[in-house]
Amino acid sequence: MIIPIANPKLSYVAYKEAIDNAVFRVLESGWYILGNEVSEFERKFAGWCGCSHAIGVANGTDAVELALRSVGVHDGDCVVTVSNTANATVSAIERIGAVPAFADVREDTYTMNPDSLSRVLARRNAKAVVPVHLYGHPADMPAICSIARSAGAAVVEDCAQAHGASINGEKVGTFGDAAAFSFYPTKNLGALGDGGAVVTSDDVVADRVMRLRQYGWRKRYESESKGVNSRLDEIQAAILSVKLDSLAQMNGRRRQIAEVYNGEFAELPIGLPLALPGCEHVYHQYTLLCDRRDDFVSHLKLAGVGTGILYPVPIHKQPAYVAEFADAMLPVTEGLAGRIVSIPVYPELTDDEVSRIVHAIKSFFAKT
Ligand SMILES: *Cc1c(COP(=O)(O)O)cnc(C)c1O
Repeated sequence: MIIPIANPKLSYVAYKEAIDNAVFRVLESGWYILGNEVSEFERKFAGWCGCSHAIGVANGTDAVELALRSVGVHDGDCVVTVSNTANATVSAIERIGAVPAFADVREDTYTMNPDSLSRVLARRNAKAVVPVHLYGHPADMPAICSIARSAGAAVVEDCAQAHGASINGEKVGTFGDAAAFSFYPTKNLGALGDGGAVVTSDDVVADRVMRLRQYGWRKRYESESKGVNSRLDEIQAAILSVKLDSLAQMNGRRRQIAEVYNGEFAELPIGLPLALPGCEHVYHQYTLLCDRRDDFVSHLKLAGVGTGILYPVPIHKQPAYVAEFADAMLPVTEGLAGRIVSIPVYPELTDDEVSRIVHAIKSFFAKT
């Protein structure tokens, strides 16, 4: 039996009774859009993150878009992000008609390099910066926020891979002007369908997101500003409330598995994911650097272990973008793309499966 790189069904099975009850409660209530379940989840999630507001939206891509629009990004504005991210980050920028620019990443955490950001901001008049807390490790927020602020740019954190990650005890999502979360089923906090949220402690930004997600309404049927339809479902909110109660525990299990890997792989000729001092990594992915990646992946496949490559081609090298970004200089991002490989780290893995994964990886290096 293959151990897949992700298995979201297990996150349902683990809480089946509570989730079934929550779904049944919504179905029976007759209220399916923006009711008590969404408000209750928003209240709980804002509290969990340490922000004053959370606003549920349809997915993480919309969360990035609505957060950017709410901090003042318009058509034609430049927004700086990284190229080793989900296409979603860049799609969200482009949906506004804004223009993405890329900073390079740090060699150690694969997140936005503040020095590279400074260089981009010296050349471009950017309206906002979107650091991505990639794989569950926080980006260097104190440095990024101070550089962005002195350039007059807002900061929107892309927290889609980092629910609960923190720097010196402060959770991601609290550093920027606003932050975007995705509840895609395989994320650290996953719905059983699509979902997302914007969090912020700025009342004005929160009010804008609230209006934007529903046609610009403050009052029903009256658009005070222009908006869209991007609502979180009542059913998904009810499921998320159940799963939020054990998010800290689930992140703890991910960290426990990562610690087993760190110990077992310490002597192998592969790069291990690092957590900087003071940073709490939540291991959305456990990503290795491996020089013989194709052989490594085939060996693991034969041994029944799934792998993932996030992301095989940086955005600026993808067909849709390569012409536009022909002169992008992102040597670290490009160097990483050919060596990264993720192995399973989801919390429902059994100790036995973790041992099988460890054994499979050690046997690859023993062979050669
Ligand atoms: C998953 C993800 C998103 C988008 O989330 P969706 O809910 O799939 O729209 C955005 N950014 C990053 C970094 C992600 O990993």
